[in-house]
Amino acid sequence: MSRQPLVAGNWKLNGNRTMVRGLMDSILDAAAEIDATEIAVMPPYPFLGQVQELMDSSGLGERVRLGAQNVSLYDEGAYTGEVSAGMLAETGCHYVLVGHSERRALFGESDQQVADKFVVAQRAGLQPVLCLGETLEQREDGITEAVIGRQLEAAITQAGVAAFADAVVAYEPVWAIGTGRTASPEQAQEVHAFIRRTIADMDAKIASCLRILYGGSVKPDNAAELFNQEDIDGGLIGGAALKATDFISICKAL
Ligand code: PEP
Repeated sequence: MSRQPLVAGNWKLNGNRTMVRGLMDSILDAAAEIDATEIAVMPPYPFLGQVQELMDSSGLGERVRLGAQNVSLYDEGAYTGEVSAGMLAETGCHYVLVGHSERRALFGESDQQVADKFVVAQRAGLQPVLCLGETLEQREDGITEAVIGRQLEAAITQAGVAAFADAVVAYEPVWAIGTGRTASPEQAQEVHAFIRRTIADMDAKIASCLRILYGGSVKPDNAAELFNQEDIDGGLIGGAALKATDFISICKAL
């Protein structure tokens, strides 16, 4: 079963209008030549509109897509500071991250809240990118699969396995995010295969079409080896997504 590779750049809390313009000009130029891989760009909320306009004028619509880094649990109302899934969809977002480990660790998002955000995003027509990952302590305790299984089950229970036909999963070991320490291709493949097996136990077709991205210190020099693994369908890139040459060479590695 062929799955279209995807590389998503999570800019986190970085950027300004000048940087957005420069980065997007380079990405859009390069994207014209990278036709097998879908690229997603996930800037902070204030730059979504600017990125969308640049994408629109490039005419690369289906190939370069807009994503957000977070979404509110609420659709509307007295929730100061929140941004709803409907608003993201109206701004042109196609993807939204749910359950990034920084949201879980720094903002206390629980498995249940992440699962609720998964549902809220899909209801607005967005594709959630469900992030899963274990801490170093959990890996060393030998409970990686138990942790990933629990995080995944929360979303399956809430949304149903069929919902994964319109979703992406990202495996991001917490100990590899922003640390320069990457999971080995074998370590990553093992967890990706576990995620696919877990879904396949419920629906083999959805599992075989599901794109599972790896994230955690992916760089131009380790991308190809990771992307060569059978169950790794692309990458969720943090630090290297802020440097056009690095991000583009990661896209090309795929
Ligand atoms: C991330 O923030 O999702 C990430 C993978 O970051 P980095 O590539 O910097 O490890």
